[in-house]
Amino acid sequence: MAEEVIPPLLSVEEANAPDEPDSDCVENQEEQMGIFQTLDRLEEAVDALLNTKSSASSNSLQHHLKVKNSKKLINCTICTKSFAKLGNLKTHMRVHTGEKPFSCHQCTKSFSRSSHLRSHLRVHTGEKPHTCPQCTKSFSHLSNLRRHLKSSHRR
Ligand SMILES: [Zn+2]
Ligand SMILES: [Zn+2]
Ligand SMILES: [Zn+2]
Repeated sequence: MAEEVIPPLLSVEEANAPDEPDSDCVENQEEQMGIFQTLDRLEEAVDALLNTKSSASSNSLQHHLKVKNSKKLINCTICTKSFAKLGNLKTHMRVHTGEKPFSCHQCTKSFSRSSHLRSHLRVHTGEKPHTCPQCTKSFSHLSNLRRHLKSSHRR
């Protein structure tokens, strides 16, 4: 009497199984399935992997080219800079208009960019992220570190 290698559950599984194996389920299914089915699944998985890999890379390349070509750059009317987003141009225009919408709540200073305000706020918080590589001194601003390097670690 030959024993059935493949459990009857398989036919149901097979009928319901999608063409592409779900990577999350493959491991669990492999435990339940017979060796033949496992090999089958493995081949399918490798196939899918190879397919996704090649198609993904070509897709991303196409996507990249598409983005590159379809990108509409908005030019600054005052200088020659161009920007992909209107928001970026608006931020940039403050360079020309002198607008400084980012005000410090702790003092009266204001800044054209939020990043500038953030770096200024370190003056009040005492945060010093720029550490001198030559000694252990830290500085709130990169410019201060540069100045320190020039004055203290001059060759
Ligand atoms: Zn400009
Ligand atoms: Zn301030
Ligand atoms: Zn130093």
